[in-house]
Amino acid sequence: SERIRLGIVGYGNLGKGTVKAIQQSQDMELVAIFTRRNPQDFHIDIPHVKVEHISTALDYQDEIDVMLLCGGSATDLPEQTPQFAKHFNTVDSFDTHAKIPEFYEKVNKAATEGKKIAMISVGWDPGLFSINRVMADAILPNGENYTFWGKGLSQGHSDAIRRVEGVKNGVQYTIPSDEAIDKVRSGANPTLTTAEKHRRVCYVVAEEGADKAKIEETIKTMPNYFADYDTEVHFITEEELQRDHSKAPHGGFVIRGGKTGDNNNQIYEFSLKLDSNPEFTASVLVAYARAAYRLYKENQYGAKTVFDVPLSYISPRSNEELRRDFL
Ligand code: NDP
Repeated sequence: SERIRLGIVGYGNLGKGTVKAIQQSQDMELVAIFTRRNPQDFHIDIPHVKVEHISTALDYQDEIDVMLLCGGSATDLPEQTPQFAKHFNTVDSFDTHAKIPEFYEKVNKAATEGKKIAMISVGWDPGLFSINRVMADAILPNGENYTFWGKGLSQGHSDAIRRVEGVKNGVQYTIPSDEAIDKVRSGANPTLTTAEKHRRVCYVVAEEGADKAKIEETIKTMPNYFADYDTEVHFITEEELQRDHSKAPHGGFVIRGGKTGDNNNQIYEFSLKLDSNPEFTASVLVAYARAAYRLYKENQYGAKTVFDVPLSYISPRSNEELRRDFL
C-alpha cells in the first residue's frame, strides 16, 4: 500500500525526534522539514528530504498528507496550528493544559473550514497519560486519580537555578516522592499537594570562588520554584554536568486508587520511564499521524484529541493481526 507522506514544521528537539521516529515507520515517508530559520543552515542526511522556509509550505499541499507541528506550546503552536489546520492534516503536542479548551475551539474552527483533521495535544502528557486518566476514571467511578511526573529534567527550574548569583551552570530534576507514591498505591486515596507529591534535586556548577552555602540557601528558599518542596542541591564540576546530565529524561505515573464491591481496593497504574522525552513524544506524534490520515480518508474533519481516535487507527498492523496477536 502507499506510504503516508509527512512534513515537519519546526526543527527543535521534537522536530529532530520525529525524523528518527519516521525512519522507524515503514508505512511513512518524510517529504520536507519547514523552519522559520534559514533553510540553508540545515543539512539533513536523508535522500529526497528537503529543508524549506516555512513560508513555502503551501506549495506542498499536494505532496504532504500530514504535517507534524513541532513548535513550542508557549507561542508557536497557538499561532501555527490554526494556520496549518486550514490547509493540512496536522498533529501537534500542545501541552499547556489550562489552555487546551480554548486552543481546541480555535483549531476546530480552522480545521472544519479547511475540511482537515487536526490532532491536538498528542504526546505522553497530554496524550498517553490522558487516555489512562479517562480509562481509570471510567472503570473505577469510586476512586481518585493521581499524576506524578519524573524523574524528569525541568527546563523552567533549570533556568531558574542558572539565574542565581555565583551559578555557572545547572540542571534540575523533578522526582516523584516515594512516600507519596506508596500511599497512593496502598489505596488510601490521600490528599496531596503538588509539593508533597514531588521533590526537587539540583546539580549545580558554581563559579570559581563562589559562596556555595549561599547558593544552596538561595535555591532552596526561592519562592514558587523550590521553597515549598523538599529540595536537594549537589555541587558538581562542568565535566560531570556534561557527562552525566546532558540527556532529557522524563516520565511519570498515572495511578488511580478505586474501590469496588465490599471495600476491595483496585489499583490502576500506568508508568513511563524515558531516556529521551523529545524522542518519545515524537514517536507518539508519528503514530497519531497514521490516525489523522485514516480519519481524513473517512472524510472526517475538525480538531480531534486522543479521546476521539479508535486505538487500531494508530497501529500499522491490520485489524486481523491485532485480533490474533494483541487481544
Ligand atoms: P524547542 O524549543 O527545541 O523547539 C521549538 C521551536 O523553536 C522549534 O520548532 C524551532 O522552530 C525553534 N528552535 C529550536 N531550536 C532553535 C534554535 N537553536 N534557535 C532558534 N530557534 C530554535 O522545543 P521542543 O522541541 O523541545 O518542544 C516543543 C514542544 O513540545 C514543547 O513546547 C512542549 O509543549 C511540547 N511537548 C509536549 C509533550 C507532551 O507529552 N504532550 C512532551 C514534550 C514536549 P523553527 O525551526 O521554525 O525555528
